[in-house]
Amino acid sequence: SGTYGAGFAARWMAATAEAVEREAGRLTELDAAIGDADHGANLRRGFAAVADALAKEPPATPGAVLVTAGRLLISTVGGASGPLYGTLLRRAGKALGEAGEVTRTELADALAAGVAAVGQLGGAVAGDKTMLDALEPAVAGLRESFAAARAAARDGALATVPLRARKGRAAYLGERSVGHEDPGAASSALLFDALEEVAAG
Ligand code: ADP
Ligand code: MG
Ligand code: MG
Repeated sequence: SGTYGAGFAARWMAATAEAVEREAGRLTELDAAIGDADHGANLRRGFAAVADALAKEPPATPGAVLVTAGRLLISTVGGASGPLYGTLLRRAGKALGEAGEVTRTELADALAAGVAAVGQLGGAVAGDKTMLDALEPAVAGLRESFAAARAAARDGALATVPLRARKGRAAYLGERSVGHEDPGAASSALLFDALEEVAAG
């Protein structure tokens, strides 16, 4: 149990950009099944912009890193996921305030505020087959460890398969959305894969 600074937050965002780049094809395939086949491209564009900006002008605090990342996702991603992920990170960054170093518990608290803001913005709750189905358990797991967060996100994403979508484009499919993993829940799992990788060094 240590503390985590701006460099850690920036490495998290860079590792997320790499994971999204690597998995863009799979994310788009998932979105082709129950959406409009752009989730991989959407997040690839967004996180590439984030990684670029953070490398060029590294913010001084972890809060500022997440606020910058969130703002960029909102401005560069056209799909629903841009404002939603943007809100997650911006709200979490604001919750971290000006601190130069934060604990894992403080990061979990901040991300919990971010997840609540995503719920408010999109009107979804757990079980609606959205990114929240991975994000909520991930943040709960983060109170225990980075590894628990990663495992919970992965399990949460896989648990969307039998669900019927009630929010987002997939909701238009009704029963036909059953049997497919939600693309946003799958990408949320990548966020927590990256976090655990960076924390493990
Ligand atoms: P779009 O649907 O506009 O093409 P993306 O394909 O990038 O956007 O993202 C789709 C993902 O966004 C979904 O798989 C779902 O996880 C998430 N999503 C969509 N609407 C909502 C919502 N109202 N609340 C939470 N998450 C949502
Ligand atoms: Mg889409
Ligand atoms: Mg779209």
